[in-house]
Amino acid sequence: MTSYNAANQPMIVTGGEGSWIVDSEGKRYLDAMSGLWCVNVGYGRKELAEAAYEQMLTLAYYPLTQSHLPAIRLAEKLNEWLEGEYVIYFSNSGSEANEAAFKIARQYQQQIGQSSRYKFISRYRAYHGSSMGSLSATGQAQRKYKYEPLSAGFLHVAPPDSYRRPAGQTVEQFNLQCAQAIEDTILWEGVESVAGVIMEPVITGGGVIVPDQIYLDRVQEICNKHGVLLIIDEVICGFGRSGRKFGHQNFGMKPDIVTMAKGLTSGYLPLSATAVRKDIYERFKAGDEYGHFRHINTFGGNPAACALALKNLEILERDALVERARVLGQRLEAGMKPLLEHPLVGDIRSFGFLLGVELVADKETKEPASLDTVKSIIGQCKARGLIIGKNGDTVAGFNNVLTFSPPLSSTDEDLAFILSTFAEVMNLRREGIP
Ligand code: PLP
Repeated sequence: MTSYNAANQPMIVTGGEGSWIVDSEGKRYLDAMSGLWCVNVGYGRKELAEAAYEQMLTLAYYPLTQSHLPAIRLAEKLNEWLEGEYVIYFSNSGSEANEAAFKIARQYQQQIGQSSRYKFISRYRAYHGSSMGSLSATGQAQRKYKYEPLSAGFLHVAPPDSYRRPAGQTVEQFNLQCAQAIEDTILWEGVESVAGVIMEPVITGGGVIVPDQIYLDRVQEICNKHGVLLIIDEVICGFGRSGRKFGHQNFGMKPDIVTMAKGLTSGYLPLSATAVRKDIYERFKAGDEYGHFRHINTFGGNPAACALALKNLEILERDALVERARVLGQRLEAGMKPLLEHPLVGDIRSFGFLLGVELVADKETKEPASLDTVKSIIGQCKARGLIIGKNGDTVAGFNNVLTFSPPLSSTDEDLAFILSTFAEVMNLRREGIP
């Protein structure tokens, strides 16, 4: 069997169809990470290529300093999906969508006379992007320390990681305590200095940390009470991944700003969006000559990308992939649960068709499994034609969560392959075969 070092070598990917990719040596892999959590409708959709091609023949480019029909139609469609009244600002990546959200939040606070509000609160372990502001909001120290100092005014609190809650606390008590940390931070920093809170509904890349409903209810309450804007990062959780159109809809949240990317085009072209509640947008019309949002983006909302995104949403609806994600997610979780008996598996957490397996060296102490163990398992899966992921550099020593986020269009056979291949690798390990 290939050693994990060989299996962890980079590959040159030459094609993709459904949930499968093929490399330059002709080897096929089931991509249970949808690339970087984004190919929601699967690979090889000709309809998407055609939608972009046809739009390019008509109007390949015009900046959104004016407007064009694909952007208007997509903004209308996104409002339908968001079940609210939002104004949409288009960019090209999740990082940019979050940057726009920070600027909008700060400017909004100024427009309503709250000029001293500039700080943002986010959670440790969360990832919000690679640009200076979005990296500042990111709560993963290892991604940041080579680039510091980053932007001022970004603060972090602990995430509601219920698996590692203190002994004697219920999940509910612990989640309330984590939410309270946000309010305490707002109060300690001074309410008049805090512009917004940014969070994913469920921390994804940081280790699939699923909050209790009570946590998000309380966060919403705290933000409303203190005039702090609630920015929900739907870059991964959006577009059906969670079993609802957007992740926050599972919790009945009403965000002020929603950021999205990845699944918006299923990764076929770069496009992202920052959705801003209509009444927040209205405040930008008032004020001085600099009252409008002074933020230019040359490529954001490119017509071909918007036309493709519209087709992508049409496919998600037509093929009922949001509902399919919910069903597949339940089956994935049920199929994984027997592995809880494995000595290495500490916890299994899922949200729609997204799942994390937390590996531990010791089930009693919950000491995280080593990075070597994690990489070895990923390598063994890859050697058998299954691509899985891991949480990135979250907190030192906590790179121990394996992640699964397959295309929502995965077939029953694809799911069976994921489950049987992963179980085979884990069972070989149990028998001491590395
Ligand atoms: N937000 C979340 C939750 C993400 O997972 C990512 C990327 O993985 C981003 C933002 C940044 O998106 P991008 O890589 O498109 O800049």
